[in-house]
Amino acid sequence: MSNILEIKRLTVEYKVPEGVIKALDKIDLYVKKGEILAIVGESGSGKTTLAHSIARLLPKNARIVEGSIIFHTRKGPVDLTKISEEEMRKIRGSMIGMVFQDPMTYLNPVMKISDQIIEGLISHKKISKKDAEAKTLDLLKKLRIPNPEYVAKSYPHQLSGGMKQRVIIAMAMINQPDLLIADEPTSALDVTVQAEILELFKELRKEYGVTIIIITHDLGVAVRIADRIVIMYAGKIMEIGDVREVFKQPLHPYTQGLLGSILSISENVRKGFILKGAPPDIFNPTRGCKFHPRCPFVMRDICINEDPPLFHVGNERYVACWLYRGVSS
Ligand code: ATP
Ligand code: SF4
Repeated sequence: MSNILEIKRLTVEYKVPEGVIKALDKIDLYVKKGEILAIVGESGSGKTTLAHSIARLLPKNARIVEGSIIFHTRKGPVDLTKISEEEMRKIRGSMIGMVFQDPMTYLNPVMKISDQIIEGLISHKKISKKDAEAKTLDLLKKLRIPNPEYVAKSYPHQLSGGMKQRVIIAMAMINQPDLLIADEPTSALDVTVQAEILELFKELRKEYGVTIIIITHDLGVAVRIADRIVIMYAGKIMEIGDVREVFKQPLHPYTQGLLGSILSISENVRKGFILKGAPPDIFNPTRGCKFHPRCPFVMRDICINEDPPLFHVGNERYVACWLYRGVSS
């Protein structure tokens, strides 16, 4: 399977009155065409910054200090960090769709649903209003929205939370993008609706072959939907692998701790997975391995002084930990 996205040494900083926050630190990552990739980590680990970097939606106080984001379009590769805002606008919405946590931030409360979806279509393609309306209705049906004609004519406040999120997904999918980035798309929803939305993402991949990056703090969401998982901590990638393999045998001590947080206490004790200590201080980044102050396996002096690279330890498995230095394949 070829790659749709290749991120190399991506480093992003935010300028704040107190100083500079390094939100992403030399991220290396590829995304395969047609896969569902989950990016998981605690709050502040840099997940949203990564999503916003790809879509070039970073706020004004952010700066890409280093690195590249190669996006393989149908016409060839482009470095998303280098192209103009005008070129990026064309890509966003037509080739890259975005779904965010809170639908109301992106829905206009005084505009009918169909008009909001059509707007995204018309701004990227030459299409008559009648055809755009027909296409919108067709998509709402494909997204299994009950009574699509009613939903199309509704205003956002007339719809439930789950339905609003489906509309946002429709807006993101209307131009049949190659890549869909969903940032915590189900966090605000109750469990049943969450399951339906996750199922919908899987159907979209099957129907349109769209590649999906899903950002979540919820390991349960990742295991339910993803093919591969990326574990982030303090702006770094700690582990990458097939989601089932990572769950079966987490290699990085942080992944072990993170998984421990969803296991029963007896299982934790048996496996020795317990995440102790405080999350990293954003203004005083740790030297060496970012996880070393909390790591039960910390080794002097290497872990304290040297940041481990991502070691390739097996079939699509990568771990940023000195414990795996010799295992590199
Ligand atoms: P969450 O799940 O809480 O959104 P996250 O893993 O998505 O967390 P980011 O939101 O990417 O993490 O944040 C990474 C770091 O960058 C954090 O230390 C955060 O405080 C900082 N940060 C994020 N956005 C901004 C901003 N606009 N200005 C300054 N700092 C920011
Ligand atoms: Fe722990 Fe060292 Fe591995 Fe970091 S590099 S996770 S401190 S063993």
